[in-house]
Amino acid sequence: MSETMHAVAVTGEREATLIRMERPEPKRNEIQIRIRACALCTWEQRVFIREKETPLPLVGGHEIAGEICALGADVDESKYPVGAPVTGRVQKACHSCYYCRRGEPTQCVELNTFRLNGPAVYGMGGLAEYICLDRSAVWRYENGVPFEQMALTEPLACVLNSIRRGDPHMGDDAVVIGGGVMGQLHLLCLEKLGVRTILSEPDPARRAFAQAHGCRITIDPARESAVERVLQLTGGRGAETVFNTTAVSAVEEDAIRMTGKLGRCVTYSSQHPDSPVPVSPNWLHNSEAVLTGAVNPGITSFDQAVNLIGKGILSLDDLVSAVYPKERATEAFEEALKPSTYRVVIRL
Ligand SMILES: [Zn+2]
Ligand SMILES: [Zn+2]
Repeated sequence: MSETMHAVAVTGEREATLIRMERPEPKRNEIQIRIRACALCTWEQRVFIREKETPLPLVGGHEIAGEICALGADVDESKYPVGAPVTGRVQKACHSCYYCRRGEPTQCVELNTFRLNGPAVYGMGGLAEYICLDRSAVWRYENGVPFEQMALTEPLACVLNSIRRGDPHMGDDAVVIGGGVMGQLHLLCLEKLGVRTILSEPDPARRAFAQAHGCRITIDPARESAVERVLQLTGGRGAETVFNTTAVSAVEEDAIRMTGKLGRCVTYSSQHPDSPVPVSPNWLHNSEAVLTGAVNPGITSFDQAVNLIGKGILSLDDLVSAVYPKERATEAFEEALKPSTYRVVIRL
């Protein structure tokens, strides 16, 4: 008779329920983690409001932090002591597909094939008391880092992958469009790189948050053309790097128009709806600009994120807007959906 555990499952529209399910046991190379905190990503929020059609119940969650609980037979306890604080890269890297072998695990073909415990429950499984991950997907933290901050490793890693694609250099201008949690994470990282950060965001509270955390210039796109302002700030050239963290296709058009010659424009957010935007092939030809995207956390960027949080180089405290116990998961999801919150974390 196998043991059971609690998990937070989306069970209907705007309904998150505590369910009991089988507790996973570690295979030979796996580490069983007792999850203590899991942050609610936009993907889970879309499932909660049923904007994203999935089988139900669904146990989402991939932004996790916890402690090592048990080890598979082949895992060395001296490297992974029971009780050590850890985070994990819940999305899979198979290490053997075309993309993994080219060192690009963000495109791994098995990345989103993760499915929990047979046909009864779907999802990535971070919103549960226990998860088992291959040891290659587990990162240790030093003692003393709060679980809520450790849970932000995954979103930070996604942002670091985006910054790698944008490749800003010291002294450059970097525009971030959108001041939600992902935009703010971009700004915090870019600030460390010695670039002039420029945020375009209509919400005054988000602009103020960015300014209080070091953002150099903020633009209110409801009052002035963000494109015009960026051109004016850059001697008419446009910025070296632009990151679009919003889901609005019309904004994507602006992002491209703000990008200077030889610049790089990164589409960070998925688009809803995914409306095509016009791009002048002659502009592309003449500007030698690069239009690219960023999706998922890489393995290297995960490592960087652990270092940035673990060494205290970045403090993400202020981005944790609220913490809820697992028994109040529906409230946590509702809170996460509010535009005024950054990340909401569930304690498990
Ligand atoms: Zn996420
Ligand atoms: Zn792969």
